[in-house]
Amino acid sequence: MKFPSLYKIPKILPVFRGYCKRWYSLATDSQSSISDGGLCFELTAEQKDLQNLARKFAREEILPSAAEYDKSQEYPWDLVKKAWDIGLMNVLIPQEYGGLGLHCVERCIISEEFSYACSGIKTAIDGSSLAQTPLHLAGNDWQKREYFSRLLAEPKVAAYCVTEPGAGSDVSGIKMTAVKKGDEYILNGQKMWITNGGVASWYFVLARTDPDPKTPASKAFTGFIVDRDTEGVTPGRKEINLGQRASDTRGVTFEDVRVPKENVLVGEGAGFKIAMRTFDFTRPPVAASAIGLCQRALEESTNYALERKTFGQPIINHQAVAFMIAEMAMDVELARLACYRGAWEVDQGRKNTYYASIAKAFASDAAVKSASNAVQIFGGNGYNTEYPVEKLMRDSKIFQIYEGTSQIQRMIIIKEHLSRVKMGL
Ligand SMILES: Cc1cc2nc3c(=O)[nH]c(=O)nc-3n(C[C@H](O)[C@H](O)[C@H](O)COP(=O)(O)OP(=O)(O)OC[C@H]3O[C@@H](n4cnc5c(N)ncnc54)[C@H](O)[C@@H]3O)c2cc1C
Repeated sequence: MKFPSLYKIPKILPVFRGYCKRWYSLATDSQSSISDGGLCFELTAEQKDLQNLARKFAREEILPSAAEYDKSQEYPWDLVKKAWDIGLMNVLIPQEYGGLGLHCVERCIISEEFSYACSGIKTAIDGSSLAQTPLHLAGNDWQKREYFSRLLAEPKVAAYCVTEPGAGSDVSGIKMTAVKKGDEYILNGQKMWITNGGVASWYFVLARTDPDPKTPASKAFTGFIVDRDTEGVTPGRKEINLGQRASDTRGVTFEDVRVPKENVLVGEGAGFKIAMRTFDFTRPPVAASAIGLCQRALEESTNYALERKTFGQPIINHQAVAFMIAEMAMDVELARLACYRGAWEVDQGRKNTYYASIAKAFASDAAVKSASNAVQIFGGNGYNTEYPVEKLMRDSKIFQIYEGTSQIQRMIIIKEHLSRVKMGL
């Protein structure tokens, strides 16, 4: 089955969206991302169609606007609306709640394609998935129906509010409090570095419900779904970041915010585990996003090195340059394998923490190295905004920071490794 031509007849977009859903229900009924055994390095026909669709959207819609959004630092609502229209947003929402219910592997496919064009716009379009995942994992039927339907009814986004000015890597150090009063909780505190902080219509918020410092993190925190327009919720100014500037990053203040008990995920004390488990599902797509950027660095560098001449020959003929490109190619291939392993494991219903962190750490480091080497290969031109690679270098750095820094990934990897050793795996 083929997707209809997307750009010829924009009027058919709503029809297309329905078509897309029907098409995916066929694909997911046959468990497209689950192979029946043995190694296979091919995407399914359906996944290839999805890749082509995401690539077409990325190359024809995102790429031409990327430099402008980087400069203006505006949130790309027009692209969010288009991605939403086509059905390339909110793809993890299960079919019973009106979504496509795509697997992690398919999210990685979309993520890589979008990021090839602009990882900042990709974060703007897909950042909402980070907030949707706790709801997906831990929400009850009412919560899912209520909050997923808002994202499907209109092009709206959500945000994941965990980090605070005083605590990022050490999540157990967060200070925001939630105190139960009758049928409500009263939230007070400050969140920081929140992607979609100023544009979200609802937030996943982690707050401390047990004030006893001796209570273990796994019992001390609670996860809430909080409406953006609740009194006392105030997003701060848009932060001016090094890269991914189309993405909206802000602090968000919560002052005596009243949240009904119906908006607690699972129950009091369950929040820390939900917030951490979320990353098993979101780190492979972050790795995929880093890979999209690496792929772009590789292609831009190759094309430039074939054209640019020094000492009477194209610079690709200088081994020092060629080896930088060879290393980018190695990194892209290896990061992609690690990424799909992390995604595939979670799609099989297995604990993938080890693989998700390996993928995220490896791909992030690869992105930073590849983008920096791309600038090197471009020489003086690489340092200039008229050429695409300086933006790649600025955009790449965040991969080593958000959704757990590269140091934290290594801490997770060694912990998981040692427990595997103990289990004799
Ligand atoms: C653009 C952007 C978007 C973001 N989006 C979100 C979002 O949507 N939601 C959200 O909740 N958060 C978000 N974050 C926050 C992000 O997840 C944190 O910044 C990150 O986890 C690091 O926390 P921190 O900034 O407090 O650094 P710190 O935790 O203070 O770490 C500082 C440095 O110390 C290292 N370090 C810390 N502890 C150790 C250790 N035990 N061993 C070795 N090294 C260590 C770190 O790796 C880092 O290099 C975002 C951040 C940015 C910049």
